[in-house]
Formats: sequence, structure tokens, C-alpha cells
Amino acid sequence: MTLNKLTILSLTFITLLACSCSKTEESVTGTTTTSTDVPAVYKKIYGATSITSDGTYIYIKTNNLPDHKSAYYATSNALYEAYSGTTFGGNTFKKNPNTIAEYNATLKIPLNPKVDASHAATPLGAIGIAINGVALFNQYAGPNNQALTNEIGGFDKYYGHPQNTGVYHYHVEPLYLTTVKSTKAGLMGFLLDGFPVYGPQEENGTTVTSSMLDVYHGHTHATTDYPSGIYHYHFTADAPYLNGSGFYGTPGTITQ
Ligand SMILES: [Zn+2]
Ligand SMILES: [Zn+2]
Repeated sequence: MTLNKLTILSLTFITLLACSCSKTEESVTGTTTTSTDVPAVYKKIYGATSITSDGTYIYIKTNNLPDHKSAYYATSNALYEAYSGTTFGGNTFKKNPNTIAEYNATLKIPLNPKVDASHAATPLGAIGIAINGVALFNQYAGPNNQALTNEIGGFDKYYGHPQNTGVYHYHVEPLYLTTVKSTKAGLMGFLLDGFPVYGPQEENGTTVTSSMLDVYHGHTHATTDYPSGIYHYHFTADAPYLNGSGFYGTPGTITQ
């Protein structure tokens, strides 16, 4: 890397820092009426473009571009990396024809998530967001509950893939987050109902399986992020991987 490039990178970094500072000041001084304090746990969504709150909902903006290498980036992208080998479940990687594209979206999720007796079914498309800003999808490949079976071999080295319009997403454990950015027991993101998603292990090292969870694929206990306990989903190695029979709580919305 040349000195010039380094300088540009440093300047970019400083600019980014300056931006987040001024946003903080804005909310502290009350110059905006819609921004209230965002609890620290949401700041773990490091890949978001912005995170704000109106005291009832958290608004998370994202461009949905993964921060890790992928065989699905255009070959001209610095994060493109050819891949051959195995992927989730020991399947041999076989690339699908799609290429990662930006997907600008705003998720509106409840600040204080609550159980909802109607347990709405999860839709196709994004049902939540990972801490790197990437969409989380449910356990189906398409309409009428098509099984993921034939798609799993298309998951890249970090277990994500883009759909036909280029929206990159994870259906299963996001391996970059559980091995590089966080741990197997770390906070992985949130579903649209505001309940958090954890990796495939508990903080004591126990591997979580679907049989240990309810039909929505979660359970309630304390975590480091929520010392007084919270309902949370877990990624598991066995189906349905992230969510079972619908949202545990009332889902918010995603707008483009
Ligand atoms: Zn998919
Ligand atoms: Zn748990």
C-alpha cells in the first residue's frame, strides 16, 4: 500500500469518526425530535449505516453489503475471492449465478420486544439483520415452504449467498461473525420482532440444538447483553437453523 492510499484511508476514517460524533451531539443537544438514546446492545450492529430510535422503535439502515470476502462479489471488487471447497453441512460449494448488489433498507424494530400470541409467519426475504448489516432469511428457499436443501451447497465460505437480485443473506450460522468478529456464543443480530439472535453456543460453551428450543427456535435466559434475561433465537446446525414456526413477538417492518 502506498503512503497516499494510507493517507486517504486515515482521512476517511477520521471523517467517519467525525460523522458519528456529530450525530451523537445532535441527539444529546436535542436538535432532532425523533432521536433518543439507542441502547448499547444495538450498537453491536457495526455494519449498519445508521441506528436511531424514537423511544418506541429502533431504526436500522443498511446497504446490506457483507464486510467479508465472498465468491459472490463481482471479480472487480476488492472483497471478491474465488472459493472451492466445502461449505455448511460439509456440502461441496457450487456457486449460484447471482452477484452481490447493494440493498438499501431500513428496519423498524420494537425497542421493547413483546411476545405476540399470533406468532406471525416469517416472510420470504429479510426477516432480520446480522451485526454486519447483512439480511437474515428464514429456513425456506422459496414460496410454499420450499426446502433449502438444494441451496445449501451455494452458501459461500462464510455461509451466505445472494438471491436473484443480489441481496446477500444468511439462512444459517454466519461463519465470519461466529469465528472472526464475535464468537459462537455472541450476539449475531436481531429479527424484525426485536428479539436478539445468538450463535450456536451458549456462553458456557454448550452447543444449542433445535430440540433445546421452542417451535419459534428460541428460549429465555440471561445473557451478557441482557443480564435480567430475554427471549432470544439461536442459530443451530440442524434445521430450521434460525427461526421455526414464525416470530415470537410482533414483527416491525422493512422499507426500501
Ligand atoms: Zn437464500
Ligand atoms: Zn440461549
